[in-house]
Amino acid sequence: MPGHVFGRTTKGVLPVAARGEGCYIIDSSGKRYLDGSGGAAVSCLGHSDAGLRAALHAQLDALAFAHTGFFTSEPAESLADALAAHAPEGIERVYLVSGGSEAVEAAIKLARQYFLEIGQPQRHRVIARRQSYHGNTLGALAAGGNAWRRAQFAPLLVETSHIAPCYEYRDRQEDETQEAYGQRAADELEAEIRRLGPETVMAFIAEPVVGATAGAVPAVPGYLKRIRQICDRHGVLLILDEVMCGMGRTGHLFACEEDGVAPDMITIAKGLGAGYQPVGALLASGRIYGAIAAGSGFFQHGHTYMGHAMAAAAAGAVLDAILGRGLLARVREQGAKLDAALRAEFGQHPHVGDIRGRGLFRGIELVEDRAGKTPFDPARKLHAQIKKLAFEAGLICYPMGGTIDGQRGDHILLAPPFIIEDAQIDELVGKLSGAIRGALAA
Ligand code: PMP
Repeated sequence: MPGHVFGRTTKGVLPVAARGEGCYIIDSSGKRYLDGSGGAAVSCLGHSDAGLRAALHAQLDALAFAHTGFFTSEPAESLADALAAHAPEGIERVYLVSGGSEAVEAAIKLARQYFLEIGQPQRHRVIARRQSYHGNTLGALAAGGNAWRRAQFAPLLVETSHIAPCYEYRDRQEDETQEAYGQRAADELEAEIRRLGPETVMAFIAEPVVGATAGAVPAVPGYLKRIRQICDRHGVLLILDEVMCGMGRTGHLFACEEDGVAPDMITIAKGLGAGYQPVGALLASGRIYGAIAAGSGFFQHGHTYMGHAMAAAAAGAVLDAILGRGLLARVREQGAKLDAALRAEFGQHPHVGDIRGRGLFRGIELVEDRAGKTPFDPARKLHAQIKKLAFEAGLICYPMGGTIDGQRGDHILLAPPFIIEDAQIDELVGKLSGAIRGALAA
């Protein structure tokens, strides 16, 4: 059946995904795969959710699409109202797009336009962190710090400053408290702003819990608060990229709630549509929106499919499901069980250096030796071996390799649907353990 479609890889023929059933994807041969990573932290409600199917059918019967140059729509308006009502303090406006990269592009452009509107045209620089991924379009790719993804497109990317991540496992010194380490890591931002000239810096962008490049690395307590203070001191906008970690993934609707920080903008996607529709959103403060409304009155940006009625209807139904079915509490509960199961299985494992994350957003980092935290030789591609063996055994997990600052091992990211049952947590950890054993033995 696979024919002329090509995706990220041109190397192999992939199985054909045929059906979904809760936490499982079933291929055309009938093989079942436990979706241990929700694809890439997307499928938060699992597959073929009855409520989502009904919401989408109803919207399709009414209207699929009306261009935002002419109309707004009921699903887009009610989604924006609901997101704004549950967003951190100061966030008032919602700009609907089709995915995470589009949300980040919009954030960067909105930041730029904001400073033009308020008469600070010299502000144009973005600062990000080396351990980050913000998307694959050119603006978002320039912001991200993933060296491997950036390398071949480097001549096309606008210059961005990258500071150190907040990466406790590798960067906190033994005699340093979490708080002291968080302040030290955050102070890199201040130094970089001063080096560039504060009057030229537009925004700092970071993932509150780092996903794709690091395997669920949360900031230590206090780090983001200090970042917020530094941004405020220099008039720099704080953009938090919650494309992966937002929409309840960490057990809070927005991950930054747990850090007690309200940013100027938040980007979300993935869990927003839960895979039922491609959709993303940029959430912006009333201050930013107000500057544009009072100025040119027009955000000079836009895509044909922004505010798409079907996408908005899906996202509205996802948000209703998360809040109405008590899924945030469930994420915290099942997340604690997943964490406990991972610690029971890998806590003493000689090649598992770190187990981390929040809610149902968990990661493990593999190392050659625990004491020295030495990564495996990247040429061995251990993470890819683990992915392959897990997939053969019927488990989808999200592995990554590569290095940051010449350190960091292979890691596995887990982000199962919020509806995961206890027995499925056991299945996930058992299959992952088998895949790791097999990959290490190879
Ligand atoms: N930001 C973050 C934090 C992400 O994890 C991703 C996707 N992995 C993106 C942005 C880009 O999103 P998309 O793939 O939907 O364009």
